Amino acid sequence: MENKVLRSKGYCSTCDRDVEFSSRHNWLRDHFICSNCGSIPRERALMQVIEIYFPNWRKAVIHESSPGPRGASMRLAKECPHYIPSQYFHDRSPGSLVGNMRCENLETLTFADESVDLHVTQDVIEHVFQPDKVFKEISRTLKPGGMHIFTVPLVNKSTPSRIRAKKHKGQIIHLAPESYHGNPVGDGRSLVTIDWGFDIVNYIFYSCGLFTHLIYIDDLDRGIRAEFIEVLVTIKPAKGRANVMNMLDQHWSWSDKLALLRNFIVRPQR
Ligand SMILES: [Zn+2]
Repeated sequence: MENKVLRSKGYCSTCDRDVEFSSRHNWLRDHFICSNCGSIPRERALMQVIEIYFPNWRKAVIHESSPGPRGASMRLAKECPHYIPSQYFHDRSPGSLVGNMRCENLETLTFADESVDLHVTQDVIEHVFQPDKVFKEISRTLKPGGMHIFTVPLVNKSTPSRIRAKKHKGQIIHLAPESYHGNPVGDGRSLVTIDWGFDIVNYIFYSCGLFTHLIYIDDLDRGIRAEFIEVLVTIKPAKGRANVMNMLDQHWSWSDKLALLRNFIVRPQR
C-alpha cells in the first residue's frame, strides 16, 4: 500500500548516483530520504554547495564537527584522505583521539592557525553556548581562501535570532521552554540554545569579520526540497585580500563602519 506524500527520481549528491527520493510524511526535512543512502534534504543541499563552492574538496583538509552516520559526512570521509571528524567528549582532553574521532570543542579548537581548508557543521550551531567564540575559532583556524560550509535551521527566518539558553557560572539558564534535538553522543539529546534567523550572517560578521553567503536550493531533481533548507558559506578571503574587519579597524571610525554595514545588510523580501 503506497502512501507517499512526495516521490521523485533524480541525482543524489551524497551517494553520487541516480536514485529515487520519497517521503511518507509532510515534514520533508527529516523524511524525504534517498532510496540508496538514506540521506535527508539538508545533507544533499550541503554536499551540493560543497561541490559548487569547494570543488577541490577531495584534496582539502576538512574538519567536520559532530558528523552524521550517513549523507555528506559519509561521502567526505570516504573520498577525502584529509577528513578529520570530531566530537566533544567532556571527559577527554581536546585534540586527543577517541577511536578515529578527534575530541574538539568548537569554542576552543586545538587546530593551529590557518591549518584547515574547510570546516563543516551540520545542524550544530543551534546547540552552542558561545557562538561568537565558535565563529572566531573557525576564522582563526581557516586557511586564507578557506570556508565554513554549514547547515543550521533558521527557524526565525526574518525575525531576529533569539537565545533560548545560556550558561552562567557553569549553570544552564533557560530563557525559553527546553527544546532538544537528537545527539549521537552523551544522553542522546542536545539542547537548542538559539533560534537563529537570517540575521545570523550579521552575527557572524560582528563575531569574526567574515562575510557569509546564505544559499537556498529548491531542486526536486536532486531531492533538495524541505523546510529550513538553507546552507551557509562563511568565506575567509584569500591572501592579499584584506580581512574586511581589519581594514575597517585601521581606517574607519565606528560611525563610518555602521553606515557602510547598513548598505551591506539586505533584509530578505517576504
Ligand atoms: Zn543517496
